[in-house]
Amino acid sequence: KEFRNNIKPNWCPGCGDFSVQAAIQRAAANVGLEPENLAVISGIGCSGRISGYINAYGLHGIHGRALPIAQGVKLANRDLTVIASGGDGDGFAIGIGHTIHAIRRNINITYVVMDNQIYGLTKGQTSPRSGEGFKTKSTPEGSIESTLSPLELAISAGATFVAQSFSSDLKQLTSLIEQGIQHEGFSLINVFSPCVTFNKVNTYDWFKEHITNLDTMPDYDPSNRTLAMTTLMDTGSMITGLIYQNKQKKCYEDLIHGFKPEALVNQSLALSETEFDNLVAEFR
Ligand code: SF4
Repeated sequence: KEFRNNIKPNWCPGCGDFSVQAAIQRAAANVGLEPENLAVISGIGCSGRISGYINAYGLHGIHGRALPIAQGVKLANRDLTVIASGGDGDGFAIGIGHTIHAIRRNINITYVVMDNQIYGLTKGQTSPRSGEGFKTKSTPEGSIESTLSPLELAISAGATFVAQSFSSDLKQLTSLIEQGIQHEGFSLINVFSPCVTFNKVNTYDWFKEHITNLDTMPDYDPSNRTLAMTTLMDTGSMITGLIYQNKQKKCYEDLIHGFKPEALVNQSLALSETEFDNLVAEFR
C-alpha cells in the first residue's frame, strides 16, 4: 500500500500497463522494501509515465535512456533497489544499444519492459517488436522487417536473468519481479502489455491463445542456457515464466576493483597529496 501515491494514471482504460504498475508495487512490498529504498527510472512512451505513479524515488528520463540513468543511480548508491522501465520502442529501438551493454555489464538492477508491439504514445506506429506484415500508419502495406527477439538477444549477450510474463497474469508477473529484484545482477523482464487503443492484432485474447506458460513444462530447467535458447526459438518466444538464470556470475559492482559499498554521498572525497598526484599522473 505504501508504494501507491495520489496520482491517477492517464493510461487508456484497459491498458496492460496498469497491471505492470500494480505488480511492481506489490513486488516491492513483498520483498520488504520501503519507498525510500526504491528508485524507478523510466524512459519515454506511455509506459514511461510509470515512474510518476509509484511512491518511491523516480525519474522520467529521455527516450531510450532509462538504463544509463538507472545504472548511474545504482553505482552512486548501491543500497537502493533500482527498477528501470519502459516500452519496447524505448528499450528495443532507440535504446537497444544501452540495453545490450547493460545486459552484458550485469549491474544489479531490474529492467521491466512493457512490450505492446507498437508505439502507443505517438498514436500507433510499427515497433521493432511488431510482427511481419503488421499494418500501421508507418507501414500501411504491412511491416517488411523481421521482428526483434529481445530475449534470445539478451541471452546471447550474456544475460544472467531473463523472464517474460503477461500483464493479465498478475501473480506470475509479481513473482518474477520479486525474483528479479532479488537476483544479484541485471534482470530483464519482458511483459506482454496490450495496447488496447492502437494494437488491434496483439490483443488480450491473442496473447492468451499464443502464450505457453513454463509452469506447464515441469522438466524445464532455467539454469540451462542452451535449453532456454532452443525453447525460445521453438515457441517463437511466446513462453512466460523464468526463462534463464545464471546465479554464478558476479554482478558488476562486485567485480570493480576498489568499489566501495557505501553510497557516494557518504564517502569521503578527500585525497592525500600523494594520492592526488598519483591520480593526476595516470592522465598525463
Ligand atoms: Fe496504453 Fe496504448 Fe493507451 Fe498508450 S495508447 S495508454 S499503450 S492503451
